[in-house]
Amino acid sequence: MNSRNNSQENITERNNTHTHINIPPTRIPAFFIDPNISCLRCEPHSKEPLRGKPVTYFSCANQEILNWIKSGGNVGVTSLTGFAVFIDGDTEEIQRAIERAFPDYYKWSTGRQGHFQYAFFIEDTPFSGPIPLTGGAYLKTRPGYVLISPSIHPNGRRYGEIIIGEKIPVVKHKDLIDVITPFFVRDNNQRAEAPKQQYTAPKIDVLNMADVVDLSKLKRSGNRYQGPHPIHGSETGLNFVVDINKNLWHCFRHGTGGGPLQWIAVQEGIIGCNEAVPGALRGARFWEAVAIAHDKYNLEFDKAAKLLEEVRK
Ligand SMILES: [Zn+2]
Repeated sequence: MNSRNNSQENITERNNTHTHINIPPTRIPAFFIDPNISCLRCEPHSKEPLRGKPVTYFSCANQEILNWIKSGGNVGVTSLTGFAVFIDGDTEEIQRAIERAFPDYYKWSTGRQGHFQYAFFIEDTPFSGPIPLTGGAYLKTRPGYVLISPSIHPNGRRYGEIIIGEKIPVVKHKDLIDVITPFFVRDNNQRAEAPKQQYTAPKIDVLNMADVVDLSKLKRSGNRYQGPHPIHGSETGLNFVVDINKNLWHCFRHGTGGGPLQWIAVQEGIIGCNEAVPGALRGARFWEAVAIAHDKYNLEFDKAAKLLEEVRK
């Protein structure tokens, strides 16, 4: 592979120098057929597992999986042994770090522009579970999974329209950890990203997280409640955290969060969860959220005005 050694080029330029391999739409690449990789059926045009049945894992060569694909179903891959991992590389920073460290990477496009997923076999110590990374990225192994070609993204685009790499590389556990460590999502809602992305609660709390989010579906641990995201769900069941003391929430999938008003905005569809960053709730969107907070959660408008002063800072 010629140009992969040049780590200084940016990813977009490098892609143009690579071959785009087209996989026939009813096949899974042959090297996915491995004891350390398992497939599961997902709903057509969806990332959700097949409804109404417990998740069943198959070999990627299993006839039932191939029939499912032929009938238009989507297919996810995971590793039951932890000796294979898949990285949802949602940000360019993570993609660059991976490709610099492992020049023989194997990646495929998802339905979203600029998003790629990577597969690795692990040579020595298996991974024991998924690891959330900043910016919505993820290292996935059981019970996490990623979709592969020829699955269709909810937006209509096929996974693996672009596939780069000859086969899944074999790497050492520690080498992979070293690459993703800078992207770990820190505990206590702290993110390992630029400070501008961090949200701090307004000094005046005119609303309480406990009043605006259904905590009954989350698991309590001290002041923190964790569980599946109430709006967009969760593959791990743990991508959403509410901290009652700090009066904040955080989404690990999108690396976003905020206070009660931001949560109301997400819950009501005023902003997407992926948009819930500091400064997102301005102007008409702010007042729309305030109006709902007034109607549903008894937020008084004079308190809202004080909140606005804080938000503006
Ligand atoms: Zn989210």
